[in-house]
Amino acid sequence: MRIELLTIGDELTDGRTVDTNASALGRALSELGLVVERITTLRDDREVIAAEMRAIAARSDVCIASGGLGPTSDDLTVEALADAAGVALEHDEASWSHIRAVFAPKEPPGGNLRQARVPAGGRALATEVGTAPGIALDTGGCTFFLLPGFPHELRWHLDRHVLPALRARRGGPSLQVRTLLFAGIGESALAERIVPLGLPETLRVAYRVRPLYIEVKLTGTDTGALDDAAARVAAAGRSDYLGDGATGLVELVLERCRARGLRLGAAESCTGGLFGAACTDVAGASAVFAGSIVAYANDVKTASLGVSAELLERHGAVSEACAAAMVAGARRALGCDVAVAITGIAGPGGGTADKPVGTVCLGYAGPGFERTETIRLRGDRERVRLRSVARALDGLRRSLAP
Ligand code: AMP
Ligand code: MG
Repeated sequence: MRIELLTIGDELTDGRTVDTNASALGRALSELGLVVERITTLRDDREVIAAEMRAIAARSDVCIASGGLGPTSDDLTVEALADAAGVALEHDEASWSHIRAVFAPKEPPGGNLRQARVPAGGRALATEVGTAPGIALDTGGCTFFLLPGFPHELRWHLDRHVLPALRARRGGPSLQVRTLLFAGIGESALAERIVPLGLPETLRVAYRVRPLYIEVKLTGTDTGALDDAAARVAAAGRSDYLGDGATGLVELVLERCRARGLRLGAAESCTGGLFGAACTDVAGASAVFAGSIVAYANDVKTASLGVSAELLERHGAVSEACAAAMVAGARRALGCDVAVAITGIAGPGGGTADKPVGTVCLGYAGPGFERTETIRLRGDRERVRLRSVARALDGLRRSLAP
């Protein structure tokens, strides 16, 4: 079953609205094991939309379209589908009664009558969450579903009308997915370990780089082959393998602390609380996470973490000596067993020849470990800060490995 998505609206092509409908549809279909071949976005232009619909009908089995079902003259998707199918628009009394009920006791504004039209041969998809019914029409060997643009209305139609129809139609074995997460390794270095495994051609391997980890997604229809490939890819990841998609890097660190009854804290300079934010993003973090002291200015590093003025004078705030002192200060001040400290130069200014922008010093301390490291990160301020948090978490994960 070849499936395409068509998202329609001037607000999408001119960038005012982010196309969340395409991602919601793509996600819902992939969860069903269905593949979307193509996503097309068009502005509200009747002729262009009709031409695209004809092309889609010629090459695909299903098209799910969003947007352009509103009551105003710029919403032209229904007209376009009628043009593409070469049929007239007909009044649909059930849709009109629904629209009148929505506006009762008033009469609907004139424009809403447009929403009660269905291309001949099609059917209206009843709605309980808005005025616009969806529309389904088979033409040229392709089933078109036209859904409203409002994301909550689209979701409603998807769950009630579209997904049940696709589930019933789906033939052949469904796709299955295995998700594996890795940290502390680059995308290309990871690929260099996975390519030599010679995974079966029938499996699809996709990499997705996230701020805190790399996700490798294996897709295929053969359960045995998938499980075998997942086990081999995990082994190739060695200590950089985090686990399956269910547990992210933060969750893993918190879980390792929890399992050993350790209280976790942090001292942050250049990340300004991002480490603490990452930890507190996880529900239930309070069981292990004590807090993070944001000590940005040198005098705050001294007052709140006990980093001596002499040390700062001699080594500078971005130094392993400072990171070690910050960790010790965080453990004392927060009364925690495990701590991490992050101090670096996020840029764009502030770099020097021996400490360029992207230089970040980290300190780790806990039962049986005490270490510091200096890393050099590429990228802009936001990326340096996020990568610093990722490194701190990954350093903790490795230090806390069972
Ligand atoms: P429409 O059905 O074209 O009247 O769309 C109704 C509203 O839904 C628009 O004004 C947008 O705010 C929103 N919308 C339309 N298309 C999308 C889309 N693809 N993703 C997210 N929101 C959308
Ligand atoms: Mg619109």
